[in-house]
Amino acid sequence: MFDYLISEDAKKIKKEVRAFVRDEIPHSLIKKMDKEEINYPTEFLQSLGKENLIGLRFPKEFGGRGLNWECEVVALEEIGVLGSSLPCLYSLPIITGEAMNLFGSEDQKLKYLKPMCEGKKYTAEALTEPRGGSDFFGATCTAVKDGDYYILNGEKRFVVGAEGADFFLVYAKTNQDPKSDPRSSLSLFIVDRSKGVETEYLYGLLGTRGGGAGRLKFEDVQIPQENVIMGEGKGGVIFYQMMVPERLTTASGSLGSARTCLHIATKYSTKRKAFGQTIKNFQAINFRIADSITLLDAARSIVLNTARTIDAGAPAALQRRLVSESKKFSTKACWKVINNAMQVMGGIGYTTVYPIERILRDSRLGEIWTGTSEIMSLIIQHEYYKEILSEKWLDRDVEKDAIDADHEEEKHYG
Ligand SMILES: Cc1cc2nc3c(=O)[nH]c(=O)nc-3n(C[C@H](O)[C@H](O)[C@H](O)COP(=O)(O)OP(=O)(O)OC[C@H]3O[C@@H](n4cnc5c(N)ncnc54)[C@H](O)[C@@H]3O)c2cc1C
Repeated sequence: MFDYLISEDAKKIKKEVRAFVRDEIPHSLIKKMDKEEINYPTEFLQSLGKENLIGLRFPKEFGGRGLNWECEVVALEEIGVLGSSLPCLYSLPIITGEAMNLFGSEDQKLKYLKPMCEGKKYTAEALTEPRGGSDFFGATCTAVKDGDYYILNGEKRFVVGAEGADFFLVYAKTNQDPKSDPRSSLSLFIVDRSKGVETEYLYGLLGTRGGGAGRLKFEDVQIPQENVIMGEGKGGVIFYQMMVPERLTTASGSLGSARTCLHIATKYSTKRKAFGQTIKNFQAINFRIADSITLLDAARSIVLNTARTIDAGAPAALQRRLVSESKKFSTKACWKVINNAMQVMGGIGYTTVYPIERILRDSRLGEIWTGTSEIMSLIIQHEYYKEILSEKWLDRDVEKDAIDADHEEEKHYG
């Protein structure tokens, strides 16, 4: 159904990315990454860059294609077929590029955004600290002004791409006054891999392996002041905007992972026999397939509609609510679809003979990174309450349709 809805640009990009995913990514790359024989797939980003597939939304002069969010989510679903490591790395330029494209200086765009979109410079985003990720404004990394530089100290953890990135987008506290408003005490820095920046791969991961996720340590790192994005104290403003690419990339990438598992399980159910017939004939199996395709279509619908709403210029608060709904719904639905696929396959689905076990391990990250499902709920209810309470009541006053609606004395509120 979606091919009947999306634009010609989106159809074209879908075809292009699908062919890239099918023909250009060696199966051995994914296997080696999962076995952690590769810790950062530089060649993947290089080939994406050569095909001009990185940062589709960004202006052509900075290496993008000047497309919109609709195209971006359609492309991401195709990339999502690869699991989650490669899609995470594909998403990073979409995420860090947002800050540079919307809020960066011309120099920052030329020095970082452009080579990143060309697949010549690699990036990572560092918000989470060992102290915590959900409480973003509690960040403890510090950046203290010293002449024309800032001196950065502190630690970030779980940073995808840390091992291979040439530069990092790092949030750090620039106002050390404990009484200062947390929303204006953080700044966002472009930090080159340079003296005092150390990356460490500390422990194993359930999935999303080979994407260079690691710990970052900053010890007296000198950052030139021209590497502050948007100016000192603007980290909070940028963070609110960054929710859009962070969440929409995860929401749309998950669709591809779930879709591919559903394909495998559906095909398997037409061949596998039990009790003398193909398992597809059992209602327990074919209803599970029905539930999965319904969930997947519902998830794709919310993602696509969110992308289009943003492209149509929705206000920032609505964008934040919709991307949070999309991420929460899509990652949960896709997790269910992938589990359903494993169940349809029986024991063999649990083995490394099929990729479902890896994709299941990979996809679990969807509900955790770029904000947990609980944090999505926090944002959704917050924005919705604000919206409802600030609105004039324009609908029919349905409360008056109650037979005893005039018993005002019974309407107690505590
Ligand atoms: C493989 C991997 C890759 C990652 N990549 C990156 C990356 O590239 N860059 C980056 O910056 N981070 C990255 N992360 C970090 C990720 O975004 C965080 O793990 C996540 O935001 C949660 O933070 P936390 O782990 O500190 O958990 P905590 O913040 O400690 O939360 C613990 C639990 O409490 C819940 N919780 C916390 N606060 C609330 C609240 N107010 N209401 C309700 N529930 C709450 C959370 O939902 C969670 O269930 C990655 C993580 C992993 C595992």
